This record gives sequence, structure tokens and C-alpha cells, in this order.
Amino acid sequence: MAKLVRGFKDVFGQEADALTELETSARKVFKLYGVAELRVPTLELKELFVKSTGDTTDIVQKEMYAFEDAGGRQLALRPEGTPGAARAYIENNFANTDPVKKFFYIGNMFRAERPQAGRYREFEQIGAELIGSAAPAADAEAILLLKDIVKDFGITNYKVKINSLGCKECRPVYKKELIAHLSAAKAELCEKCRERLQRNPLRVLDCKICGPKFTQSAPKQKLCPACAEHYEEVKTLLRGKIDFEEDTTLVRGLDYYTRTVFEFQAGSLGAQNAIAGGGRYDGLIQSMGGPDMPAVGWAMGAERAGIARGEKPAKKYLKIYVVSMDKTANEAAFNVMQTLRTAEFVTLGGLFDKNLKAQMKQADKSGAGYAVILGENEAKGNYVTIKNLETGAQEECPQKELLNLFKLKR
Ligand code: AMP
Repeated sequence: MAKLVRGFKDVFGQEADALTELETSARKVFKLYGVAELRVPTLELKELFVKSTGDTTDIVQKEMYAFEDAGGRQLALRPEGTPGAARAYIENNFANTDPVKKFFYIGNMFRAERPQAGRYREFEQIGAELIGSAAPAADAEAILLLKDIVKDFGITNYKVKINSLGCKECRPVYKKELIAHLSAAKAELCEKCRERLQRNPLRVLDCKICGPKFTQSAPKQKLCPACAEHYEEVKTLLRGKIDFEEDTTLVRGLDYYTRTVFEFQAGSLGAQNAIAGGGRYDGLIQSMGGPDMPAVGWAMGAERAGIARGEKPAKKYLKIYVVSMDKTANEAAFNVMQTLRTAEFVTLGGLFDKNLKAQMKQADKSGAGYAVILGENEAKGNYVTIKNLETGAQEECPQKELLNLFKLKR
């Protein structure tokens, strides 16, 4: 029998609807913020991710779908969106033509992680990258943009955490201190953290096993005056517009972050509680061979956002199911369906080759509020019978009055 690849999934029904609704909310809010769409390839040179996402990250070390193509090129399915966006910014020479760019992308990402609830090997990310401004206002705008999408989509129960990781001046000092502190307790670290202690000690703090052991005792990041001022300004701009918590252990999984990092977390998601995360990445574009361009961005896991919101409350628009009882009424019933759709009523039905009982059963199953029924008499007399599927009450209505009648019920 044909079978899915482990860790991949088919998406349909309520889950697919939620993804579409999220994309619609996102596109609406992106427009309000002047953020334009960027579509980049799903496949890039493997090297792009090794150099940008970072060769100390789990993503690059273990999770990439990388392979050699027939031409001997080392390629990878994208595990995240930022490297492709940064590459596109550099290759299309935006720095010279239009340096301050606000991009969004919507697309599928691939990571060969251990599959579990809320963690898939192919998943959708909606992301934003604000390139060209080092100002704290860009960080605040990125965070508020994400909040507005989350709000428009309908997630209410979530927390926002923020932190500052410092810059290339103050972070190495902190890293050194942290390595010294953690090395003294090396025996208490899990195997993974022992391995990454020298290269990426900050990751120990957000490890699910080791993090809690060191949250209290680990030295705290001391920001240089410029980073401290930047972070203060970001918080000032956010206050009163969004509830947030400062969390000095928030470091995020990718190598390129500098200064502000943030995460949106939903309690309802369990262990995989991050709906979205991001931060500033001032050195990335230059390190990839581009100009010295500061930037800030984030990515949201679309499936997780859907799970965090749950089923959408009842829709405002009416759902109507059209039934034909008799062959001679099929054409009139078909025309009624099209008329209802022109007035933006969700209109289902059309299974006119099935008998009345089967069609009514489908109508009940579909979640429609009303069935519009036509038989020989209705077709000849230019009227329809309307059945309220909740109460069972029936009424007749001239076909030309139908839209007005449903508009009153809407
Ligand atoms: P990251 O690119 O790792 O910063 O992740 C950004 C967001 O993408 C996370 O907050 C998750 O919501 C989502 N995400 C990351 N990895 C997965 C995965 N394997 N399956 C589903 N969603 C994911």
C-alpha cells in the first residue's frame, strides 16, 4: 500500500482551514506594516545554511535534508527562511537600490528532527525580515507585527519572552565567563551540552535537561553600554502595547542572533511550546559576503499556531446546503447554488444524482444551517423550500426573494 514518509503528514479539514486563515491574517497585517512578499527557492546550496544558520546548530549538524544532485552539487532543502532571504537581498543587490527592505515569506521548511507532537519534518513557517535598520524601533516593530498577526488569527493564550544577547563586543566576554562556570560543573551536563559547551555555551541555558540546573547560578549577561541602551529603548517602545517578560535564559537555537531575541509561547502546546521566535541578526548579511546591513526578523510555526488557537468560533457567514429532489429540478437547483455564491454565502450540495435522503444526510453532516430544497413543484413555481437544519422548521420562499431572506438571517 502507498505510504507516507515517517514524520511527514497530510493536512486537510480543520487543520488546512486554520493554515489558510493564518496566511490570510498574516497577509492582511503585513500589508498594514508595508512588508512585501519574497518567494525564494525551497532548495539552496547546502553551504548557505552551514555558513548562516551555523555549523554548531542541531539544524545543520543533524537535521538537514542534504544531498548531492546529479551534477555533483551539494544541496539542501531549506530548514529555515532567513538564510534564503538574506541571500536574495545580497544577490539582487537591494542594498544599492532599496536598502531598507521589509520582507515576508510563507513556505514549507524541512528538518529531520525526531517526530513528536508539534514537531514535524516538513512544516510551514510564516516569517518576516526587516533589513537595513539597527534602530530599536525596528525590533519593536517586528515584535508588534507578530503580535498583530497572532491577534488577528485569534490566539489569545500566549506569553511573550524577550532578552538581549549583546553584540560582538560584549557577547564573547560573557561566553567566556559562562564556559568557565559550566566547565566547573561539566559532570552535571547532558552529553549534548558537554559537546557544545565550548562552541555554543548559551545553548546549555535553554537545554530542557541542563537549563533548569543552571538558571540560578549561571552568570548573567552584562551588556555593553550601547547594547544596554538599545535593549532599554526596545522595551520602552513595547511597554503599553504588548505584555512581555524578560527572560535572561532565552537564547534561541540559531547562531546568528545578536542583541534582541524573543519568543511567543503558548501554554496549550506542551513541550513544543514556541509558536514563533526571532531576533536581531546584525552580522549575518555581511558574514555571507553582503554589505554591513543590520536586520531583525522572526518565524512562526504555522501548524503550531493552528494548534494553539484551536477550532475557530462559529463563522459569521451562513452555510447553506442545496438539495434537488427531482431530475427536473436539477438545473434550477444548480442555478440557485451559483446565485447564493455570488452573494458570498458558503454554498454546499450539488449531489443531485443521490436520492433525497442521502442528500439530506450530507446536509446535516456538512454543518450547514439551512437546506434549500427544490423539487418539480418548486422548479415550476419559481420558489424553494427552506429547512432550518437545527430546528427542522420549513418555509417556502420565491426564488427572487431568496438572497434577501438569507441576508436577514446572516
Ligand atoms: P526556528 O526557525 O527554529 O526559530 O523556529 C521558529 C518556529 O517554527 C518555532 O517557534 C516553531 O513554531 C516552528 N517550528 C520549528 N521547528 C518545527 C518543526 N520541526 N515542526 C513544526 N514547527 C516547527
